[in-house]
Amino acid sequence: MFRGKLSIIVPCYNEEEVVDETYRRLKAVLQESGLRDHELIFINDGSRDRTLPLLRAIAEKDPLVVVLSFSRNFGHQPAVTAGLHRCRGDAAVIIDADLQDPPELIPQMVQKMLDEEAGVVYAVRDERKGETFFKRFTASLFYRLINGLSDVPLPMNTGDFRLVDRKVIDEFCRLEEKNKYIRGLISWIGFKQVPISYVREPRFAGETKYPLSKMLKFATNALLYFTRK
Ligand code: UDP
Ligand code: MG
Repeated sequence: MFRGKLSIIVPCYNEEEVVDETYRRLKAVLQESGLRDHELIFINDGSRDRTLPLLRAIAEKDPLVVVLSFSRNFGHQPAVTAGLHRCRGDAAVIIDADLQDPPELIPQMVQKMLDEEAGVVYAVRDERKGETFFKRFTASLFYRLINGLSDVPLPMNTGDFRLVDRKVIDEFCRLEEKNKYIRGLISWIGFKQVPISYVREPRFAGETKYPLSKMLKFATNALLYFTRK
């Protein structure tokens, strides 16, 4: 049984079609699994749609919801970083807003952290539903390339969906990199890190917020920070 506070960090960019459902599913899982001491941190990454008013309405009804809002679109990694800096939990889950990462996996992640005395439980995609061939192909190419070049182990088929404990969060918050490749930095921090597998669902609604231009920025940033070669 997990006794501490659990933070949930959800970056949101133009997610008006999903935020209500994401909140509902997260809250249901937390309540059903007895994770009552929690906080939900939604980061509005400069959305141009109704994401912010919707989040504010959720926060008005639920005192365990915190909304951070950026002055413009800074990107997914800065949004998650802001959440990690703001969270007060003994452990935190990083999860996408579009329900591709199933909230129902969270209790299993928490249990695994306790059972294995791990500092990090990272979710590995067994299967990716509803993603284009192009997305899977470029992702696979990127992970092969970065793993071939980098000394830091960077697990395949792993996004930022993971549970990290307080000592890892504190170390992460001390890092001064301006452009953070979060999954790489967390791996680099060390401690015991264990995988848990899951099936990646299609997006609940809306379109990807990661067009090719953002994907390339993300990939070049990761390569520049994580390989000397
Ligand atoms: N996201 C963000 N800022 C951005 C792009 C994306 O906060 O500039 C969020 C987005 O709302 C989602 C997560 O990052 O919660 C992953 O984005 P998305 O699902 O669009 O990426 P994909 O799954 O298609 O790779
Ligand atoms: Mg997605």
